[in-house]
Amino acid sequence: MNDVDEKLKEECGVAGVFGIENASRILYLSLFALQHRGQEAAGMVTFDRPKQAPDTLELHVHKAFGLVSEGVNEAVLNRLKGDFGVGHVRYSTTGGALLENVQPFQFKTILGAVAIAHNGNLTNAREIRKKLESTGSVFQSTSDTEVFVHLIARSESATIRERIGDALRQVTGAYSLAIITKDALYAARDPRGLRPLVLGKLDGGHVVASETCALDLIGAEYVRDVEPGEVIEISKEGSSTWYPQDKKPLSFCSFEPIYFARPDSLLHGESIYVRRRRIGEVLAEECPAEGDVVIAIPDSGMAMAEGFAKRSGIPLAMGLVRNHYIGRTFLQPDQNQRDTSVKLKLNPIKSVLYGKRVIVVDDSLVRGTTAARILKMIKSQGAKEIHFRVGAPPITHSCFYGVDTPNREELMAAQKTVAAIRQHLDADSLGFISEAGLRKALEEVEGKSYCMACFSGAYPENIGTSITKQPTDAKGPGLFSKR
Ligand code: SF4
Repeated sequence: MNDVDEKLKEECGVAGVFGIENASRILYLSLFALQHRGQEAAGMVTFDRPKQAPDTLELHVHKAFGLVSEGVNEAVLNRLKGDFGVGHVRYSTTGGALLENVQPFQFKTILGAVAIAHNGNLTNAREIRKKLESTGSVFQSTSDTEVFVHLIARSESATIRERIGDALRQVTGAYSLAIITKDALYAARDPRGLRPLVLGKLDGGHVVASETCALDLIGAEYVRDVEPGEVIEISKEGSSTWYPQDKKPLSFCSFEPIYFARPDSLLHGESIYVRRRRIGEVLAEECPAEGDVVIAIPDSGMAMAEGFAKRSGIPLAMGLVRNHYIGRTFLQPDQNQRDTSVKLKLNPIKSVLYGKRVIVVDDSLVRGTTAARILKMIKSQGAKEIHFRVGAPPITHSCFYGVDTPNREELMAAQKTVAAIRQHLDADSLGFISEAGLRKALEEVEGKSYCMACFSGAYPENIGTSITKQPTDAKGPGLFSKR
């Protein structure tokens, strides 16, 4: 994990295209816009029916490690012919650096070729895999997504559409899927709606993507979100929709609006940027601070800092400047050089900080080590006081739905009380938004509820993991100060 970006990591972004010439170029741009959801590897699969042999289906595949801009070039786009396809960007940690795990996965069934791109994590993948292996399935990767491949291939239903339904009925957990078959694009979202997926229109064809920022870049019109539990089938005959599973209580991932999704994206038709500003406002109501200036830890804390400043009436200023040109191949320094690694990415503006009571706003606190270094750096610029405010409740539990969370031993809030965290950060005060405050900022209503399991351990389904309570010394919003 990058030292300055000590955040939870989204594990994937997906895109799909149907009925648009040069689908590979649309996929490329879509994945480029979704790059923040995964930087380890990118892949695209397109299907083509050559004009001279329209009954033949050709599959074109490209997968590469690294950023989309590094792994895909003009020659690749020219080679990936066809007017429909799916693409994927991936982030993964353990066992991740294997080309076999890079999506989309493409495979041949008795009913024709299929390619699949998945964002999320199946909570019963291990169980299903064991069962399938015991009856002869041979897995090629260590990815949970491969379970879909086998379930679709082994289903005895007569059509691919039914086979996809059969597969979805057997899995639990989080999935947003883009699937292409020889004559259709399918977009599917798990019944709790944990991960996002949107539908758009472009040039008489259709696109699906994890976020609307991908639609913006390709000039597509946002049609709507794929509904939780819905499967949309798009083919030459038109589009149809169905719900293969029983309805379940909704549980949108609250970290999408807090941090994962780009601020220029819409989620459930609502602006992420507006949501983040609102979180900052509620944070200021719950954890007020007397200060001279509000600053953000850029870039992700920006919108929340704006909201905090607006609600508190304390001026917002740029106290830290981020260097965007470090590059992903930057060699991680050893322990003694950690402060330097923070400085390489963030530089303080002394004239903003010197002699001031500074309110520092960030979106979340994971391990706490980077935050401590950043606050130390701000103090070194002559800040009189530092009041740290966080737009997510303390993270105390791991995620099982497609987000890379450190072990509980490494999650600062799972190990320390809020008072002890303040001490560790050497901040004059520390305040986290409460779970109730976050729900208020997200305007949770019946029928639109959020997963907050990484703050509470209240997982939306039984994940079979022993859940222990966080240390707690806080009532309400969890505001602690020196005095
Ligand atoms: S546990 Fe946290 S990160 Fe995972 S889906 Fe729920 S809210 Fe999102």
